[in-house]
Formats: sequence, structure tokens, C-alpha cells
Amino acid sequence: MMPTPPETSGPTIVKGACPHDCPDTCALEVHVKDGVALKVTGSAQHAPTAGVLCTKVARYTERTYHPDRLLHPLRRIGRKGEGRFERISWEEAIATVAGRLSALAAEDPEQILPYSYAGTMGLVQGESMAQRFFHRLGASLLDRTICASAGAAGHKITLGPSVGVDIETADEARFIVFWGCNAITSSVHFWARAQQAKRRGATLIAIDPYRSLTAEKCHEHIALLPGTDGALALGLMHVIVRDDLLDHEYVQRHTLGIDELRRRVADWDPKRVAAVCGISHREIESLARRYATTRPALIRANYGLQRVRGGGVAMRNIACLPALTGAFRDAAGGMFLSTSGSFTIDNAALCRPDLLHGRSPRTVNMSSIGRALSDAVPPIRAMIVYNSNPVAVAPDSGRVAAGFAREDLFTVVLEQFPTDTVDYADIVLPATTQLEHVDVVRPYGHYYLVANNPAIRPLGEAKPNTEIFRLLAGAMGFTDDCFGDSDEALAQSAVAKDWDFAAVRTQGWKRIGAPVGTARFAAGGFGTPSGKAEFYSTAAAAAGLDPLPHYVPPLEDTRSELAQRYPLAMISPPARNFLNSSFVNVTSLRASEGEPWLDIHPQDAAARGVADESYVRVFNDRGSLRLRARVSDRARRGVVVALSVWWKKLAHDGKNANELTRCDELTDLGRAPLFYDCLVQVEAA
Ligand code: SF4
Repeated sequence: MMPTPPETSGPTIVKGACPHDCPDTCALEVHVKDGVALKVTGSAQHAPTAGVLCTKVARYTERTYHPDRLLHPLRRIGRKGEGRFERISWEEAIATVAGRLSALAAEDPEQILPYSYAGTMGLVQGESMAQRFFHRLGASLLDRTICASAGAAGHKITLGPSVGVDIETADEARFIVFWGCNAITSSVHFWARAQQAKRRGATLIAIDPYRSLTAEKCHEHIALLPGTDGALALGLMHVIVRDDLLDHEYVQRHTLGIDELRRRVADWDPKRVAAVCGISHREIESLARRYATTRPALIRANYGLQRVRGGGVAMRNIACLPALTGAFRDAAGGMFLSTSGSFTIDNAALCRPDLLHGRSPRTVNMSSIGRALSDAVPPIRAMIVYNSNPVAVAPDSGRVAAGFAREDLFTVVLEQFPTDTVDYADIVLPATTQLEHVDVVRPYGHYYLVANNPAIRPLGEAKPNTEIFRLLAGAMGFTDDCFGDSDEALAQSAVAKDWDFAAVRTQGWKRIGAPVGTARFAAGGFGTPSGKAEFYSTAAAAAGLDPLPHYVPPLEDTRSELAQRYPLAMISPPARNFLNSSFVNVTSLRASEGEPWLDIHPQDAAARGVADESYVRVFNDRGSLRLRARVSDRARRGVVVALSVWWKKLAHDGKNANELTRCDELTDLGRAPLFYDCLVQVEAA
């Protein structure tokens, strides 16, 4: 429970940064009195987020002072997965971990695998001291692909690194396409700007298999089949080229390969595309014309659409559209997937790959961890998990859990809460929350690095990740000077130049890049090899890929033979009150979410005798789980939606939607998982 502060002087305000995996990176104000964080609010002076927090972080003190916070090191005393532990001292915990890792490293350090992602987006508590430690050890490397790598790779081929439209000008757009983007849940400040644009007369379009909260509030919703976005983009290009809606001057000066693209899209007439996408050809014709003839036109794409086999090229195709129409001429026009490509983070200084001293350890893909835990050679014998909850979030969850249950696997988990993954740990090391440590956060939805100051002392015996890896390095005899760097020194080294962390932490944030209102690509200057938007990519050709936009259908296509047995396409986008698997344990947020639901169309429900609010079994060859049906036309016919990511142990049957997703195949680009490329069957339970 949150302690009651004594009545003394008024609270002080400590400047912070939201660390969660959300593009918006809000600047926080933590109200502290007598060493207790009373509440967390947003900073009104921070231009892109303007003092508005989402419902999740507005309740951050509930999370920080949650009765289930891990406050002491723990050692497993039950079976793996049972979650029974006894308290041990830090000295014993560090000595135990160091002893096991030293023995494994003496045999072969590649038997040791770090596993981490964006549990914090902080550059300091993320991959700084941790990677220094693993590089020095010579552990296996981790390919961090679980969320964004397919879309980023596709975007990179057409436009270079992700330098999206500045959110601060988005309200000036006249036409906004939310493509695979439920902004109300996943990018709430962009949604606020879109609302301003709407009030000024802008048209909002949602492209999404699901009538999300965002789709519901747009003027129009195009409910295509999952995994067909790449085909829709080809159809839109077809109409733009056919009807000569191109910006010829822009295309001629700032793009590459228009003639090849013309030939490629000629085959993708709206009727063909409509059949692939499960929509009408009129929707395609109408969208193409309005998109191409309205300025500024902004595509807000998000990562949902790239969680299918053809996810990489789908993003590549979509990224061609603003170059064809010259939408990049406007500051408020163009493409917005992410802004992360505009920050120069000094990963060499932060993570010190030089500590490998010439070794080249194997790389394990985090998206295939279920398979790697059973098949990797040499076997993975130790997992050090931090900033991630793979037992809940990794695909093919049953296989992941079976891997973590291996008796010969030594598992260490750095965590704030007893997650599904913690239940499999041999040693649990309690980690601090954002209110308790130093950091700096790189956003992917705006152009400000945001500093984080500790507002309260660490709760219990919790320690920052950095300190835990310093202790491990010391116990393993790593004497390199870099393991003595303070968190402030790490924050200073994070940004390559023009960066004074001491000054920024006082101010709260620092804008990087072009001034607000700059049409960044009005005169080209893309981060591609040619500096142009590349319809034809020689880099793709050199890598053995199709150099032109094309369509890769879902692996589990609703038209495939597999669909005879599993006719429904399941997607599992974020629930509004959760952020990946973070916040699921916050009682008030979980109560708002209710329980694990399956949205199903009335016709699909009726065909299976499924009544609204009844329990159903959802299954495929990989597994099954029990969900409660919500019968409505939010899910289009042929698609079911399991909002996610529930902690398995907080669900009815100890399972979540990842019981059904696959880890044996990856996306066309970026080696990412196929979370939304998943056929299932549903029956009344
Ligand atoms: S999760 Fe996103 S919207 Fe919510 S406080 Fe953090 S950055 Fe802001």
C-alpha cells in the first residue's frame, strides 16, 4: 500500500520521463513529499505532450507502490513456473549468479543469453551497462526484433531511417490516414493533434481489420483482412498512376524508379486488390483519389500492420505513397511511422561492443526464443532477462514456457513485479522503477530527448539495472574502467554530440533536429543510398530481394488450405489499459479492461453457436485458450480480435493469445514475429 505521508511542507516537483514502450515519451512531473511520490502528472510545458498523460501512467504511484513490488532478491524454492521463492541477500544473489555464469562462460559463454526489450525505453537502464557486461562476457547476442524491425526495414528501403512527420505540425494536416494505428490507445498525443485537424476540417481515415476506438471516431473505416495492407498500397498506387495524380515534379526530382514502379503497379487494379483485401474496389478508388488530391496528407502508420509475413514490404509499399503524390512538400504531410531515426545515439559508447575483443558470438533472435530454447546449438544454458516478460509476450507461448521450465536452464530475472517470467526464475533481482533512478529516454513519436531524475529512494532493496550489472561485473572480476561509470556518465555518453545531460535534466528535455514547421523532405534528402525516395531499390536488389514494391500474402492466409480447419484470422493488438504486458497487474487498470475477451462478428458467432459474453475455446495446432466472446461488428467477418497482452497467470486458464501465435517463421524483412498472421478456429466452450 502507498504510505501516508506526514503533514509537513508542500510537495516538490521532480522532472521525469515516461519510460514505457509508447511513441509519446511524456515529460513527467513527480510530486514528492517527505520522500513519497504522491502523484505523477504531465508537464504542460513539454510541447508534444502538453501535460496530458494516458490513463496508465496517470496512476503511476499505484504501480510504484503496488503491494506486489519485488523488494528483495529471491531464490526459487518451488518448481519452475510455480513462482515460489525465498528471500536471500544481495551478496548471496550476486555470488550465486556470478558463480553459475562463470562456470558456463569457462565452457562456452555462448551458452549464456541476455533477453531484453523495451520494458524501459531509457537509454541508461536499457542497454548500457547490461550490454557492456554481456559483451565482456562474450555471451550470445540477441537480435531485438519483437516489435518494430519489419516495419523499420521496409521504411528504410523506400525512405531511409524513420524520420516521421513532426507531431507538432500534425494538426495542420487536411487528410490523415491511420494505417494499422489505434492512436487512442497507442499514440494518444497524435490523436489529440488529429482531433484538432478534424475540427479544422481534416478528413480522418482508419485502415484496420478491427473497428478500434480510433477507427470508430474516424470519418471512414476500411476494414481490410489482416496481412493485406501491402496489396492495398499497391492498389492505391495503381489508381494514382492510372489517373495521373502524381506530383510529376517531385517524382522526377526526388524519387528513383518511377518507370519500373508504373509497370509493377499496372497489375494491381482495384478489383484485384479488393478481392485480396476483402474490401470493395470503390473504397480503394475513393481513398486513392482523396489521398492524392488533398494536401497536406499524412499517413500515420503503426507497427500492427507489419506483424505478418509480408509486413516489411507492406511498410515499404505504403512509404511510396507520399513520394508519388508530393505529400512530403508539406511540413504536416508525408509519412509518420517513427521519429527514432533522427536521434544520434552513441551505441558504441553506451554498450561498448569493443569489449568483445574480436569475438563474434552467435546471435539469437528473440522472436524465436521458444524454438531457440529447445533447438539452439550450443544449448542455451542461462538466460538473463531484464526489461522484458518473454513468457507472456513472446510468440508460441506454450513452447516458450516449456523452454523456461527446463531443469538445466539457469534463469535470472531483473524485475519490478512477479511476472509470468519471474515464476520461472532461479534468481530474481528486484529492479527500480522510473521514479527511483536516473535515465534519458529517446522517443519515437516526437523530437525531444527527455531526462529522468530519481524522485524517491529505491523501494526496499531494489536497485537500478545498471547497478545490478556493475555488481555482477565486479563479482566476475571484470576490472575494465567502464564498469565504474555512473548513471549520469552513461546518460552523458548516450548522445553523440551537442548534449549536456546535467543541463538537460534540469530543463527536463531537449529538442533534436529541425525546427518545428520544417518540411523535412520537401527537397528530397532521404536517408537512402541515392538520397531519393526509392521506388526501385538497388540495395534491396543487391541483398537478393525484389527491388520493387510487391505483395507477400500472409503465411496463414484465409484462402489457404489451412483455413479449411482454421478459418478465422486472429489479431491481438494492445488493450487500452495495458502497454504490452506492463500494467496488467495494476488492479484498477485490469478492472477497466475486465477480462480477456475475444471480439467476434455476429455472423461468425452465430455459425458457431456462440452467444455474447459466453466462453469460447480458441484453438489451432499450436494450442488453445479460453476467452469470453464479445459479439459485435467491431471485428470484421472472418477476423477475431483478442486484445492483449494479458499476463497468463491473471487469465482464466493461465494462457494468453500468444498460446496460438507462431515462432517458427519470421517476416520477409527484419526477422520479426508473425503475431497477426495466425489462423484459428473458435467453438463454444
Ligand atoms: S505511456 Fe505514452 S501516453 Fe502514457 S504517459 Fe507514457 S508516453 Fe505518455
